[in-house]
Amino acid sequence: MPAAVPGIHHVTSITGDVQKNVDFYVGVLGLRFVKKSINQDVPDTYHIYFGDYLGSPGTAMTFFGWPAWPKRRTGSGQVTTVGFTIPEGSYEFWVKRLRDLHIESSRATRFDGDVITIHDPDGIELDLVAGSSALKLTAWPDGPVPHEQAIQGFHSVTLTVAEAQATHDFLTHTMGFRQKAQDGRRTRFETGGGGPDSILDLVESPEGPAGEESIGTVHHVAWRAPDDKRQAEWRETLVAAGRNVTPVIDRWYFKSIYYREPGGVLFEIATDSPGFTIDEKPEALGSGLSLPPWFQVRRDTLDETLTPIVIPTNLVQGRASS
Ligand code: ZN
Repeated sequence: MPAAVPGIHHVTSITGDVQKNVDFYVGVLGLRFVKKSINQDVPDTYHIYFGDYLGSPGTAMTFFGWPAWPKRRTGSGQVTTVGFTIPEGSYEFWVKRLRDLHIESSRATRFDGDVITIHDPDGIELDLVAGSSALKLTAWPDGPVPHEQAIQGFHSVTLTVAEAQATHDFLTHTMGFRQKAQDGRRTRFETGGGGPDSILDLVESPEGPAGEESIGTVHHVAWRAPDDKRQAEWRETLVAAGRNVTPVIDRWYFKSIYYREPGGVLFEIATDSPGFTIDEKPEALGSGLSLPPWFQVRRDTLDETLTPIVIPTNLVQGRASS
């Protein structure tokens, strides 16, 4: 087995309203809009990316903008909650910020920590979990949330599956995850160095419902590969374990392989490099429509078909206006 994946690389979900989505992730959560691109498999639709200043691996929350898709339901066979790390001591700041911005939230204790649960405009469940991230992050100096309280990348993903045992075995025997804790039907795993950004919670829900790929659901979670060599090793391991794995696909910002874990959740392993500065300077990230070289011929058509996105610019602490 190759060295375990270090942690979450990115999480990709489906939004039905790109503008509301941008207003929320930038204006409320204070993530930076780092890339406006297209879905390379459905190229007349957006693929947009949020993250820290550079969209560093471990921070990139991304969305396919698919307004024509059905709005169905989240359920087993999917990532059902995405957790972000907020700095220790920022819990009350976030409770107040969310209240001031009229975002409904609930509070709970999970394992050893306090959790604030909210939903994005499409209904995707998000947890804000206090912790101390070991990720290499670059702060967004002009962001609406002060650096001391700003989101520090991902904390965790929660997978819901109808039957947990096969996923459990796959995570621990093939992918190198370690079981850390259990609470009822929820089992917590960690990979790599452990801690925030490496956590996977597995929830067994035999009564369903089964999730459907639709607006307001998570499409896949990507795990990090430090380089191409490590990704190739992972691919070999997964194929040997009987997973149906795609060839390496060049996504321009990273290279990717995709497969489903036994519970049906779509996994990706994506390389840390080259990252989002491959075609825009750090200060200009997200400002234009970024296209991989092999899609440049479509630029004029895409400029006409894609609905313009307004990035909130007049950001002030506590609220945002476009
Ligand atoms: Zn992906």
